[in-house]
Amino acid sequence: MSDSIRVRFAPSPTGPLHIGGVRTALYNYLLAKATGGSLILRIEDTDQKRYVEGAEQYIIDSLAWAGITFDEKPGTEGPFGPYRQSERSHIYKAYVERLVKEGLAYYAFDTPAELDAMRKDAEARGEQGIKYGHQTRLRMRNSLSLSPEESSTLLADGSDVVVRLLVPSAQTVRFHDEIRGDVEFNSDELDDKVLLKADGLPTYHMANIVDDHLMEITHVIRGEEWLSSTAHHVLLYKALGWEPPVFAHLPLILKPTGKGKLSKRDGAKLGIPVFPMEWKDESGEVYRGFREEGFLPSGMLNFLAFLGWNPGTEQEIFSLEGLIDAFSLEQVVKAGARFDMDKAQWFNQQHLKDLSVDRLVALLRPMHPQWASTELPDFEGVVKLLQERLTVLGDFQEEARCFYEAPRSYEEKPLRKKYSPDSAGWYGELIDYIDASDWSQDLQAAVKSWASNMGLGLGQVFPLLRLALCGKMSGPGIFELMQLIGKSESLDRLRYSQTAFAAQAS
Ligand code: GLU
Repeated sequence: MSDSIRVRFAPSPTGPLHIGGVRTALYNYLLAKATGGSLILRIEDTDQKRYVEGAEQYIIDSLAWAGITFDEKPGTEGPFGPYRQSERSHIYKAYVERLVKEGLAYYAFDTPAELDAMRKDAEARGEQGIKYGHQTRLRMRNSLSLSPEESSTLLADGSDVVVRLLVPSAQTVRFHDEIRGDVEFNSDELDDKVLLKADGLPTYHMANIVDDHLMEITHVIRGEEWLSSTAHHVLLYKALGWEPPVFAHLPLILKPTGKGKLSKRDGAKLGIPVFPMEWKDESGEVYRGFREEGFLPSGMLNFLAFLGWNPGTEQEIFSLEGLIDAFSLEQVVKAGARFDMDKAQWFNQQHLKDLSVDRLVALLRPMHPQWASTELPDFEGVVKLLQERLTVLGDFQEEARCFYEAPRSYEEKPLRKKYSPDSAGWYGELIDYIDASDWSQDLQAAVKSWASNMGLGLGQVFPLLRLALCGKMSGPGIFELMQLIGKSESLDRLRYSQTAFAAQAS
């Protein structure tokens, strides 16, 4: 066994990948890259009842879009493959049988109705949170409570049989977590988890630890929701005589209010993306992802990296390479991290600013084929001018509109404030002046000096030009805009506004 770090991301294809999952994959990736270790993608698909069509492909595509790459994964079968648990089902059974033979696990024959009756019975007696475990196992039908003959008959019958872990009673299960410190569980609070289901497939717990062991995983980095399962995993490692890996449980990602875990429903309700890419539910409901919201993968990853980690310095903007250099598990915090959409957008804005114009053009061109093919204005010029103003890629649509579409009406309030019949006179002269100007010279300086000769303030002149060209007061510099759309289009808009202003303002 080598000393290098081996980590894994082990999603279950039971639905789309939540951004919490992307963060888990990211932290695993960062640790692997930072240490020259390996990252493995393992698909945990032993729960056939919860299998969701398309989820595995979605997970793979989302991680590929995010730029998180794997050293070992389904399709690249190396010495540790296959990497899809459904293709490994022959492996697990032998370990389960070994546990049964050694008296560390047992067969259980209870029907769903019997399990239900056990719960109801306990409730009727006022016993809270009763589990299949040390208090109840001898009251149930299993190879501990039945005679060996009865058990053999039931086994031979092929009746619904599962294998359960025999959790030792009155023990303290201890393990160290890199983020949470020393963690303890009282074994009496742990149920006898099913290890092998009636369909012959292992449960998550069994398959997970067998694979982590066989794949020589050194560090298990996953969400906090798995912390309580870890007690069972530690018992299983012990039962099988294996050394457990290092554990690190990442803090929860909380709703924007800070109260409770961020759920799929919050996404729909609050209009925030909780998935990396668009996902269509079985019910037909469509959830937009970070990609559809116009995030760059690097912007999303930078944001996610900070949900539960900080570099310990003031620096906030990191490329993926930068994160690899800065990341360490020691800097991961225990407290839940609040999802803040404004912050997400801020991160993305910084990443958009840092992008080369060529790259930004390559991203925006296919999103706007109707604009990208016109000769004037020059698409690249528009992108360059607007780059600073974009928070997400989708902002381009609105920001660039007036380069491609002449306004046919004007923002009401500023028009009423800035335009009056008195201005009509000098406004016409201004347009003639712009028409007669040499556009290869500094047009802005020319208009400024014209205004000062006319005794007009720039606050009177520029807003009208802006409205005439764009229809609204916010937007890029008007002289840059005029150069990009060209003299003929600019003058068309200005001349049109002469009558349109008067009509709208009357
Ligand atoms: N299959 C589990 C999941 O869906 C993996 C948990 C773990 O990393 O052990 O998240």
